[in-house]
Amino acid sequence: MRIVRVTCFRQLQPFVDGPYVLSGGRVDEGFDSLVVRIGTDAGVEGWGEMSPLGTMYDPAFADGAFAAAPLLSSALLGAPVASVARVLDRTLKGHPYAKSAFDMAAWDALGRAAGLPLHDLLGGADGEGTTLYRSIGRSDPDTMAATARKYRDSGYRRLQVKVGGDPQADVEHLRAVVAAVPDAELYCDANGGWQIGDARRFLAATADLSYVLEQPCASLRESVMLRPHAARPMVLDESITSVVDVMDAAQHGIDGVTIKIARVGGVTNARLIRDVAVSVGMAVTVEDTGGADIDTAAMAHLSVSTPAAQRAHTVDFHHWVTVSNGVGMPGTEGGMLRSPQGPGLGIEVTIGALGDPVVDEGGS
Ligand SMILES: [Mg+2]
Repeated sequence: MRIVRVTCFRQLQPFVDGPYVLSGGRVDEGFDSLVVRIGTDAGVEGWGEMSPLGTMYDPAFADGAFAAAPLLSSALLGAPVASVARVLDRTLKGHPYAKSAFDMAAWDALGRAAGLPLHDLLGGADGEGTTLYRSIGRSDPDTMAATARKYRDSGYRRLQVKVGGDPQADVEHLRAVVAAVPDAELYCDANGGWQIGDARRFLAATADLSYVLEQPCASLRESVMLRPHAARPMVLDESITSVVDVMDAAQHGIDGVTIKIARVGGVTNARLIRDVAVSVGMAVTVEDTGGADIDTAAMAHLSVSTPAAQRAHTVDFHHWVTVSNGVGMPGTEGGMLRSPQGPGLGIEVTIGALGDPVVDEGGS
């Protein structure tokens, strides 16, 4: 099965809840999404999606993805669908985010051709679905407490509190959230915003609270140096870009990793890194940097095919944004993300929501 056509679209996806605020004053208003459709000589299509979180979260840039899209699209014409990841890497050095939607589309096409849901190609579903979390952006204590209550009342049992700024303010934010939703499971995500000393001050002032610490400092090295001073689980997100990073983190006592599909270049590498993290005994989250229904479906399949005992949580980005690009995602009752049961990603893409193509290679 070879690729005969590649079409790319651009969809802007504003956030339902307004600006999303990370440490260091980083703000994003919505996702700027690249959607890719591949057509094959077997008559099967595949869809993929990628959106970075703004320009200051990861080394990824939406305009970079759109600049690379014509090059990658033309390189894929005539390529076997099963070899897409290799062709992408031979065509463009680095820039994994720019390749992610193309790789995802190939997996969707393979699943559709096989008549199997993507989770069956990735190890099989283990259980019903994956626990969802929702992020509470940095703000003032009252606003963060009110947001926590709103998400808890919407069915989210796990909340991620954005920290990583002034440690004393972060302590006040966390205590306000704990007071508002004492039954929620909490992650404190600094997004790499702290120096080691900041993180130590936050840890000392919150020793009586129960939470998991996520990406306290920017680098793997700093976070590892902090590890002996944190008597609680610690997981890394931004620092994890490869199998080597997973092995380094595991060796230094990091408890879990978050794998973002776009950061690692697509489903192929996300699955590889996930399987290594599972094999060395880590807690694993598979999610992404942004997108709507297409991307959320991919996260759902990768997550549910991760062994349940080591699966942490994931996100329902299609509920974070005001627009949709597909139908068929199962409901999220009970705060769980379920994967569609149809072939491939298992959703029907709403092509009318995507506007005119920005790239169309191989079309007549
Ligand atoms: Mg994170």
